[in-house]
Amino acid sequence: MNTRQFYINGSWVDPIGGKSLEVVNPSTEAVCATIILGSEHDTNSAVSAANEAFNSWSASSKAERLELLHSIRDVYAARADEMAYTISTEMGAPIDLATSAQTGAGASHIDAFIRTVEAFEFDRTLRENTPSDKILYEPIGVCALITPWNWPMNQIALKTIPAIAAGCTTVLKPSELSPLSGMLFAEILEEAGVPAGVFNLINGDGEGVGTTLSKHKDVAMVSFTGSSRAGILISKNAADSLKRVSLELGGKGANIIFADAAKDAVSKGVARCFNNTGQSCNAPTRMLVERSRYDEAVAQAITQANNTTVDIASNRGSHIGPLVSEDQYNKVQGLIDQALQKDGARLVAGGPGKPDGFERGYFVRPTVFADCHNNMTIMREEVFGPVLSMMPFDTEQEAIAIANDTDYGLTNYVQTEDDEKATRVARQLRSGMVDINYRARSSGFPFGGYKQSGNGREGGVWGLEEYLEVKSVGGWNA
Ligand code: NAD
Repeated sequence: MNTRQFYINGSWVDPIGGKSLEVVNPSTEAVCATIILGSEHDTNSAVSAANEAFNSWSASSKAERLELLHSIRDVYAARADEMAYTISTEMGAPIDLATSAQTGAGASHIDAFIRTVEAFEFDRTLRENTPSDKILYEPIGVCALITPWNWPMNQIALKTIPAIAAGCTTVLKPSELSPLSGMLFAEILEEAGVPAGVFNLINGDGEGVGTTLSKHKDVAMVSFTGSSRAGILISKNAADSLKRVSLELGGKGANIIFADAAKDAVSKGVARCFNNTGQSCNAPTRMLVERSRYDEAVAQAITQANNTTVDIASNRGSHIGPLVSEDQYNKVQGLIDQALQKDGARLVAGGPGKPDGFERGYFVRPTVFADCHNNMTIMREEVFGPVLSMMPFDTEQEAIAIANDTDYGLTNYVQTEDDEKATRVARQLRSGMVDINYRARSSGFPFGGYKQSGNGREGGVWGLEEYLEVKSVGGWNA
């Protein structure tokens, strides 16, 4: 792979201008590749290729699109080990996690979209008794797909696969912190036979390529996952051309643990919070515990945090790895310091600095704060590190109020043996997703948030419809 090139119009091409950027392995701080941050010329060239290809790809049949998705699935499966190694090296997910959850998420999304497209009727009649009222689901056009570094293949697959399946053409800009998995994905799509121009990849940062794509008059839609900060800028930049903007942003999930929850509800909650070194938008970072069980819960959380091992990403095992970058490390340290010095949260595990024995790499100590209250910064801001905040509650209504008292609304969690209580609480939580007793939702479910967690849904039929326009035709007599 020549990491200085872009994939445009079915070929790997040299950039026209642009600055270089080193990709750093966060476990070792060693440079693992150099990429080019694309220029406006490069971005225009990728959009123009996608625009050109839209004429033919938008007219492709459902059978052609499905055949392509099957081919992508097969090549993706054949190159899964390469993908896991690449993700692990560039963003620090331990290799076992990179193989199972990180790379595996891409595979399961491809499979789920194949099932969704098979069942989807792109041409329908309004009702059985109105045969001349036709509803056509048509691709929206050229889609700019801007993705983050924390679950790179999950997010790239959740955008690219439905966009192509809808008949759209695409320009992917992966995160400049994790560009190599995106480039490998481009190789997979090339090998799978994606027609020239249907998928294009250009590296760059938000200020450059991200902004050019958001403003571009020939881009019909931007699908973005990342920070609320960037989501706001993208929305503003897209406003002048009134393009569709789909946003998957941050979260500050509450995990409500009632007194009757399962014995391991606390330790599972801590593990969920620390998974992927805490770098997940749906992490349950605010643990709310019913007061009668609170002291016991704090003790369990301390044990779970102290038993969480930290190690370099290339080692096998269930440890957590480093944070993605020095900037992210500094941000997390700043939030830990603020919780301690300014907010007065009670530190019960971990704390500032690196774990013993890790001078190099962006490693953080698995950290738990107890006795928090909901106006502390640590309870309001997305930390994106292995940091859990705990607070007690007295009543069901109080727990719901605390959970909903946030700008975010992505995923909340409820732990109780009482099914009626669980569903009653789930209905009142203002979030796009609720997980009861850590039961996994099936593939093809819609992923997305309320409030400042975004405005779109990815996955399943909802994730496909994001890329479609709906056309009503009257007088259809064919
Ligand atoms: P970010 O939002 O800055 O970057 C994510 C992607 O958006 C990258 O591809 C980036 O190049 C691009 N981007 C950035 N600014 C842009 C702009 N103005 N226009 C167009 N594209 C732009 O995220 P980050 O700096 O990598 O991380 C910062 C914080 O964002 C994290 O601490 C975390 O809280 C949050 N985050 C959330 C998610 C999520 O899944 N919700 C993912 C990554 C980061």
